[in-house]
Amino acid sequence: MRYLLLLLFLPNLFACTQQGKAQPEQVNLQGGSTKLPKEKYQKTVADSVKPVAVKDTPAQPKPKPEFSVEYIMGKFDPAQHPDFVPVDKKYADGEGYYLRKETYASFVKMHNAALADGITLSIISATRNFAKQKSIWEAKWTGARKIENGANAAKKYPDAKNRALKILEYSSMPGSSRHHWGTDIDLNDLDNYTFEQGPGKKVYDWMVKHAHEYGFCQPYSKKSEDGRNTGYNEEKWHWSYMPIAKKLTDLAARTMTDDMIGGFKGAETAVKIGIVEKYVLGVNPDCL
Ligand SMILES: [Zn+2]
Repeated sequence: MRYLLLLLFLPNLFACTQQGKAQPEQVNLQGGSTKLPKEKYQKTVADSVKPVAVKDTPAQPKPKPEFSVEYIMGKFDPAQHPDFVPVDKKYADGEGYYLRKETYASFVKMHNAALADGITLSIISATRNFAKQKSIWEAKWTGARKIENGANAAKKYPDAKNRALKILEYSSMPGSSRHHWGTDIDLNDLDNYTFEQGPGKKVYDWMVKHAHEYGFCQPYSKKSEDGRNTGYNEEKWHWSYMPIAKKLTDLAARTMTDDMIGGFKGAETAVKIGIVEKYVLGVNPDCL
């Protein structure tokens, strides 16, 4: 009898044990009479499936990049751009120049400080967009405009790459010029010799000493084997407003490739020459 009773109870005993073990899992899976509140449980499941999603925070719109590749390549009209202002003719050799507002504000301060020291800084070129640079480049490319040594590049350099390299001593390919950016200016005269003696030297010496106080840097410094050894020749007249130009140089380094450069005569040489690496980024290390 004892054995019979024991046999009758044994299956129940096992059943209870198994049920006891299985119960919490079943409850959890069904979400029924669980110890976790339903809300919390659902959140736990959601979190385990999508750990990145934070339900309580609304989706943030991606911050818009400050500058686009189109901007870097000068594909806009500075006269219509909200961040640009015309340069007053008292600071320039004429009218029709545009700069970014920040560049202009700092230039005016620098101009006034220089004037107080008896130095005149006059803008002779400012923002040039892609279309403007294309007209300069193609005039040199076709020989309609002589290059710096007085030669007709089309006649003297029939090989496309050689011709491009010759023009590149002082002129940028459209799409790759710092003059697109609204941060760069040419001052007083497009001739290094002007700045090496007489009143021009005083101007240059003043700039070397003080331009950095206003955020300006000379990107096309003297070339040397251990310093800047690629890119344009030295330009003592060309100055960049670094607080913005630096951002644009960094962006160009990350996003620009030679095959993006096109839409003008001779553009096929851009890849062979390596315009981005050698010219866009081939600047004075102090201006990087
Ligand atoms: Zn320039």
